[in-house]
Amino acid sequence: MKVSKFEKVLLSETLMKDILNRNKRLFLRSLWMIRLRWLAIIAVIPSTIIYKYLYHIQLSDFPIYIVCFFLIAENLISLKFLKRIETNGESFPDNQLTSKKVKSDFILIKNVLNFQIFIDLIALTFILYFTGGIENPFIFFYFFHLAIASVLLSQKETFIHTIIAVLLFLTLAYSTYLELVPYHVLYNYENYVDFMLYKNSFYVIKSTVSFIATVLILVFLASSIGKKLQNQEEKYADAIDKLKKHDTIKNEYVLRVTHDVKGHLAAIQSNLSVLTSRILGPLDDKHEGFIERAYKRTFIATHFIRDLLKLTKLRMSGPIKASKFDLRKALVNAANDVKTNAESKSITIESQIDDTVNEFYGDEFSIQEITSNLLLNAIKYTPEKGSITLVAQALKDTMQISIEDTGFGIPENEIEHIFEEFYRASNVKKIVLDGTGIGLTIVKKVVEQHGGKIWVESKLNEGSKFIFTLLKKG
Ligand code: ADP
Repeated sequence: MKVSKFEKVLLSETLMKDILNRNKRLFLRSLWMIRLRWLAIIAVIPSTIIYKYLYHIQLSDFPIYIVCFFLIAENLISLKFLKRIETNGESFPDNQLTSKKVKSDFILIKNVLNFQIFIDLIALTFILYFTGGIENPFIFFYFFHLAIASVLLSQKETFIHTIIAVLLFLTLAYSTYLELVPYHVLYNYENYVDFMLYKNSFYVIKSTVSFIATVLILVFLASSIGKKLQNQEEKYADAIDKLKKHDTIKNEYVLRVTHDVKGHLAAIQSNLSVLTSRILGPLDDKHEGFIERAYKRTFIATHFIRDLLKLTKLRMSGPIKASKFDLRKALVNAANDVKTNAESKSITIESQIDDTVNEFYGDEFSIQEITSNLLLNAIKYTPEKGSITLVAQALKDTMQISIEDTGFGIPENEIEHIFEEFYRASNVKKIVLDGTGIGLTIVKKVVEQHGGKIWVESKLNEGSKFIFTLLKKG
């Protein structure tokens, strides 16, 4: 199969990512233009009504409404095309880049942008024509469109739009000047003197010269600023790319090391457990103390390594493996998993799971695991005979789950740090020794992978309430 020159270039991964970033930028700009146009339509319709019926000015309003109708159609058509990019799977996936998709998206977005600017220029010309033509002070609105074109489009495309704008302006100015089409008056107040500027050759020539001069200067300035910004953006994208690569290398390194250390620790732990179980015979008091301590430390280190491994794997994994499952069942299972731990400290766990909590689309295993983790934390950081409440309910777009305890709480000035890696609050560091400060980072990551948020409300020595949401999908 013959590979086109363009396709050959796209096969280079970095270039492909560059174009992907540009696609994203142009896509967002295109949506921004659509939003602005909705605002313009909303503004034009009532102002036309006010102009005509409040100030009793004979305005050719019907053609203006027709132009607005075309603008609405323009927005709907643009949205329909932009939707194609979104429905082609996840929009702008970082992985699974295919040169064909990136290329076709790029062309599609560019076409939508060119289409929008072209139609806008024509619509503007019609609106100006029916509201005083060259005499309308809003004639400078042409410049906005050209500035947008200069920043977003290529030099060639901007040049074409500039020519179109100048031609439209000349048509507008000279068709009424030469009386090829009827003139539509803008003002007709009783005390307004109509100078008939549209027929005044000095005014028309002066306007033409200043319009063309302004257009040229504006397009030149905006293009050079746009080019500079684009270069800057490409540099940033490059730097982010490099950082991502370094991060991947670091994660792979941590993964390898933790994996190896985990194996050694497991071996040490099983050897020590042979000694502590006294299979090989009794231990004297001196040895027993040392071996017990070594066993405990190995246990803590194993937990730390296990959490680190989990976090690194989470960082390296792509999108979650989601499926439909019964969220209520997962929450009940999580509470059952920690029952023995709670009982060993005479802590009660009450579950209040609303009937609205049922089928959910997400990663069942991870959600059950993070709920258990939060419950285990609540048990760990609550003194004996305390209580824990698990509440779950469905909100409009999310499922909300909270776990409240009557424990040690978190110092107010440390709350903002507790989701950071390895962070442990000062009040519990000495009371509970076996902490890694990684658990909450893992919980936060899983919640965010499900499009949710997590936060905590806490009062020192009174208790904490961890609340998280999960986005409902499908
Ligand atoms: P670890 O519990 O292993 O230290 P986590 O990441 O799970 O690590 O928690 C980080 C810190 O947040 C804990 O060290 C503790 O200071 C605080 N924390 C977490 N859960 C609670 C809780 N339920 N009550 C009080 N403090 C908590």
